[in-house]
Amino acid sequence: MKSAKHALVVGGGVIGLTSAFQLARHGWRVTLFDPRPGGGATWAAAGMIAPSAEIGAGEAANYGLQSGALDAWRGFANDLRKVTQKELSIVEIGTLLLGWDGSDRRMVEQFAQIAADLGVVPRRVSLDEEPGMFDGVSPRISDGLLVEGDAWLDPDQVVAYVSEANEALGVSIVKEVVVSVGGDGTRVEATTPSDSFVGDIGVIATGAGALPTGAVTSGKHVVRPIHGITVRVRGIDRSAQPMIRSFVRGSTVYMVSRPGGYDVLGASSEERHEAGAQVGEVQRLLRDALDVVPALETAVILETREGNRPASDDLRPFFEVLGDGRWSWSSGHFRHGVTLAPIAANEALRFAERVA
Ligand SMILES: Cc1cc2nc3c(=O)[nH]c(=O)nc-3n(C[C@H](O)[C@H](O)[C@H](O)COP(=O)(O)OP(=O)(O)OC[C@H]3O[C@@H](n4cnc5c(N)ncnc54)[C@H](O)[C@@H]3O)c2cc1C
Repeated sequence: MKSAKHALVVGGGVIGLTSAFQLARHGWRVTLFDPRPGGGATWAAAGMIAPSAEIGAGEAANYGLQSGALDAWRGFANDLRKVTQKELSIVEIGTLLLGWDGSDRRMVEQFAQIAADLGVVPRRVSLDEEPGMFDGVSPRISDGLLVEGDAWLDPDQVVAYVSEANEALGVSIVKEVVVSVGGDGTRVEATTPSDSFVGDIGVIATGAGALPTGAVTSGKHVVRPIHGITVRVRGIDRSAQPMIRSFVRGSTVYMVSRPGGYDVLGASSEERHEAGAQVGEVQRLLRDALDVVPALETAVILETREGNRPASDDLRPFFEVLGDGRWSWSSGHFRHGVTLAPIAANEALRFAERVA
């Protein structure tokens, strides 16, 4: 009988939290380990579940996976509502893709070609015809592409609601780091600095963090951290308008505007291990955002958040069954972990049910 089985979930970012939820909802007893649930890359994420406007050359396979994400989130929100009676807000408002200078605009055109190959046909929009869409945008940008159907949600809300649901479903939270994992083929074991825990299966979802000692991988996947920041400001309320994504001097900057004028500006992307938002990193992000949206000039900076995106060698997510088959590793979600979380959670459940 499924309900007697016990799952250990190591890591309480968006992947671990949603996996714990799916397992608990399907009758598993779940223990989740994290010294600071929701405090990893998930904390920094803007919450775009917007695969279309981010399509790049050579990303067809990733796009295929991501394009199912919105439906997966709708289903997840439904399941969450049944437990918490709370409505996860998924805002399906599209992305306005812009280019700052001539070569950035050529990048917008290149995007249009790549997107068309994948069946995504953005609509051309102009300041003259739809001025409201360009609210706050620099007058030197007079046209762009509207990628309809792209969506966003608030990762803080996801963490809060899923944590509440997990509590209601009886998930035990151990606010400690797992230092080692093991097992004997019939059960799994996780050891924290103060205790040891035994279960039937285990899911390791430590993001870009190191694996606990004893996790035996195939060596096929290696995860490296790609550092990034978002800056949160109280500025203009563009929440009725599409998210903005713009090429600026060859880089990209985005703005997700939430009701009330809470804007998330993102995101830097740097291969480095040192923690901390650097002055230059913040300066470049704000400079690019201000160039595209000068109306942010008087916005008030609320906070800067940072995190490490978990990137695999081929930048694709993976779900690897480890060692003796009872531990698994769910990672590599890179810049799409929020987008892909309900899909990863379903995978964790399928794994658990297969092994049980
Ligand atoms: C600036 C920025 C913006 C982003 N924007 C978006 C976006 O708009 N949309 C999107 O889809 N994605 C976005 N991402 C990517 C997304 O945040 C990540 O892909 C996602 O958070 C990965 O989730 P995770 O649960 O695997 O890792 P994390 O969120 O990093 O969580 C891992 C957790 O594991 C815990 N942990 C680590 N080691 C151990 C251990 N040994 N024992 C116990 N616990 C442990 C950590 O404390 C942490 O809480 C963004 C990322 C960044 C940095």
